[in-house]
Amino acid sequence: MNIEEDHIWHPYANIPNKVSTYHVESADGVHLNFKNGLQVIDGMSSWWCMIHGYNNNFMNEAIKSQIDKVSHVMFGGLTHQPAIDLCKKLISLTPTGLDKVFFADSGSVSVEVSLKMALQYWQNKGYQEKSKFITPRGGYHGDTFGAMSVCDPDNGMHHLFKGVLPKHFFVERPKMDNAEEALHDLDSQLKKNHEQIAAMILEPIVQGAGGMNIYHRDYLKGVRHLCDKHNVLLIVDEIATGFGRTGELFGCNHADISPDIMCVGKALTGGYMTMAAAITNQNISDTVGVLMHGPTFMANPLSCSAANASIDLLLKNDWKKRIIEIQSLLAEELLPLKNYESVYDARVIGAIGVLELKKPLDMKSTQEKLIKYGVWLRPYGKLLYTMPPFIITDQELLKITNAMREVVRNLES
Ligand SMILES: *Cc1c(COP(=O)(O)O)cnc(C)c1O
Repeated sequence: MNIEEDHIWHPYANIPNKVSTYHVESADGVHLNFKNGLQVIDGMSSWWCMIHGYNNNFMNEAIKSQIDKVSHVMFGGLTHQPAIDLCKKLISLTPTGLDKVFFADSGSVSVEVSLKMALQYWQNKGYQEKSKFITPRGGYHGDTFGAMSVCDPDNGMHHLFKGVLPKHFFVERPKMDNAEEALHDLDSQLKKNHEQIAAMILEPIVQGAGGMNIYHRDYLKGVRHLCDKHNVLLIVDEIATGFGRTGELFGCNHADISPDIMCVGKALTGGYMTMAAAITNQNISDTVGVLMHGPTFMANPLSCSAANASIDLLLKNDWKKRIIEIQSLLAEELLPLKNYESVYDARVIGAIGVLELKKPLDMKSTQEKLIKYGVWLRPYGKLLYTMPPFIITDQELLKITNAMREVVRNLES
């Protein structure tokens, strides 16, 4: 019986699983140690979470000491110090006005909660017909049904669940060089349809899994203005961008805006435990009243203690200086690769470096090549990108960018 091939479902994969999987025995710092003896640098931060790297002593100790107190307790009618501490931290770090925190157990769930908040808000105000959402094309907000319905309609999963997914409004995706075109489209769609629209949802400054699209900060400013103008709430999904990844603590900070609802997840716990949150302001919480949601593992104490430790660790270091250094190195190494025939575009922001190729890469053979160069990346479609742990050294980062260059160079002949 081959458990790995014939019985375990991997993400976006089938059984039997014909894509190679690599067996991780342990991990330390930026390194993954495979069972076969190979060691690779994790250029993905395990889907963008592990900002402090693996097996960090401070993180481990925080979780271990919480285990001895209480590992889990229901959040209905009970509370605990790790949740109280984390709530305080999130209020102080997030943009002005965001001070009501709903803890969720994964990013997708926090998105579902944010959509529910917006719907309940308008219901209670007497606007029953405001029940749709508007979002730029090219977005990604998770794999649950509400979240899927606001993902990109073409490269998301809409075609699989056609007829089941609610239909929402999609607007032009924002660009890097100018914000006007996309804002113009948004303005005209909002003008036409605002009576049906509860909220706009978008990923600030970078659209992640939907295509690693970095865009102009003026778009965010414009979005805030247009949402106010047309009486539509603004939900900002910071699950990928939060906690320093783009060079600011949150993507919103690039444009100095405060959304009505913000979702955080992924790096919230430094990747050590699963946790997310939907954070809103008093206007929304007062109007919503009883919010109809309550996950079993809401505000899990181990997750809260991991998040508290991760935030402390981040703020203790000069994270911003390091992210800007990583950004410079990524820019220096990756942007010149635009000159290669096979490369359509190269872009960098914060600790995110992206190569968009003209043709899709074969994931299996590309990954094998990257592992030979000692690097773990997960290319998808035409995208080869890195989002390394913040603790990476220049030398380790160069190993990643060199491996990316080699993949591109190999495509040339
Ligand atoms: C990963 C991600 C999600 C989904 O989070 P899960 O924890 O996988 O459910 C939602 N939005 C964005 C922007 C993400 O990057």
